[in-house]
Amino acid sequence: MPNEQQMTVSPPRPDASWIDENVRALSASPTLAINELSNRLRREGRTIYKLGLGQSPFPVPEHVVEALKASAHENDYLPVRGLPELRVAVAAHHRATQGLDLTPEDILIGPGSKELMFLTQLVLDAELFVPSPSWVSYVPQARLARRSATWIPTRREEHWHLMPNALAAALERAEAGPKLLILNSPSNPNGFRIDRDVLEGLASVAREHRIVVIADEIYGQLDHEGCVDSIATFYPEGTIVSSGLSKWCSAGGWRLGTFAIAPQLRWLLDALSIVASETFSAVNAPVQHAAVTAFRGGPAIDDYLRHTRAILRALGTRCAAMLRAGGALVEAPHGGFYLFPDFTPHAAALSARGVRSSSELCRRLLDETGVATLPGSAFGRPDDELTLRLSYVDFDGAAAVAGARHQGVASVNDAFLDAYCARVLEAITLMARWVA
Ligand code: PMP
Ligand code: GLU
Repeated sequence: MPNEQQMTVSPPRPDASWIDENVRALSASPTLAINELSNRLRREGRTIYKLGLGQSPFPVPEHVVEALKASAHENDYLPVRGLPELRVAVAAHHRATQGLDLTPEDILIGPGSKELMFLTQLVLDAELFVPSPSWVSYVPQARLARRSATWIPTRREEHWHLMPNALAAALERAEAGPKLLILNSPSNPNGFRIDRDVLEGLASVAREHRIVVIADEIYGQLDHEGCVDSIATFYPEGTIVSSGLSKWCSAGGWRLGTFAIAPQLRWLLDALSIVASETFSAVNAPVQHAAVTAFRGGPAIDDYLRHTRAILRALGTRCAAMLRAGGALVEAPHGGFYLFPDFTPHAAALSARGVRSSSELCRRLLDETGVATLPGSAFGRPDDELTLRLSYVDFDGAAAVAGARHQGVASVNDAFLDAYCARVLEAITLMARWVA
């Protein structure tokens, strides 16, 4: 007979098997992981070209920094939906720049648009649709929220755009029920803006299927021509316009994102606010106060954007041309700071060197040239396609903006890029040479 002590079942010892299986299936987000790896390799003394993380190379506009300093004493918890003056400024910004009919009541402020997108997936019991390629975090967020996700095919020949007929086909194949589409323009990873007629076509499919759309316009103000076209113009009643300070204001580390939510979706804003109140409470007060200055815009912001866009346009165009000359399939970008070259024309030669996938391509590039990038597979492309994303941001953005201001925007030419963006050009040269 076992004694009483032997019969007691001991409780399980805590270990990694206690981690939720959806979390266990994930690894660190590739954008942040490549940044940490690049920094570690640099600390170890290797020459690393940081084209991995997509972070603005420019400083935050000086008067916005001053506004943050002046707000350092702000220590109250702010309203969950955001500082009222900031919600006014964000609604006015969308109205003035894009003609969207929004009021401060339609705005939600969060600690990065990334968090707001995650909360949306948590709150909406909806299937996610995203074009392939798309930014790395949308689908992992769906997993965390226990939603199913569908990648919709696109074609390089069509600038990797989601086409209305492809969206319609995917929606028609799907099971009945609520659906969410995330549409990012200008696009991370390829830098292309979605043309107005395509936006219009997508809007009519979205309306017909009554889906919710997140228009991820985090690079909207970084369109190199200043184009601000949005699907929200054509499908206002079902669209959330997502933006923030991270890219155009170069303040990724400040962690402030904005959602402009159609009044017809107020029920969604209400639900998001409840979850916000139970999770992050409110975004930090000093940054919200400083963000009012950023979103109000004005001549200083216009001047800053004119210079940063000119530099990004010239550099993106030059890098694309260098890669094309090296045999890659890639075109000049329309916005942001990314390129998504396809090295398929070199497939046979690369295969002979043991490189048959985008992940192997990026691993070997980093090992053998020090150029850090991310594989197309991280953005939903098949791993055997030889695509990669590079962020052309490894240069001193403060010096470059000062140089462009000093010499005038018209002087942002090849000689300017040679002087101020040499590291990126060197990285592209190394990459093109290595692949060829
Ligand atoms: N969308 C895209 C396409 C991005 O590249 C990023 C990365 N900054 C985000 C959303 C999230 O931005 P944040 O959380 O900094 O607002
Ligand atoms: N969005 C940036 C990128 O794609 C980095 C920040 C992030 O992923 O959160 O590289």
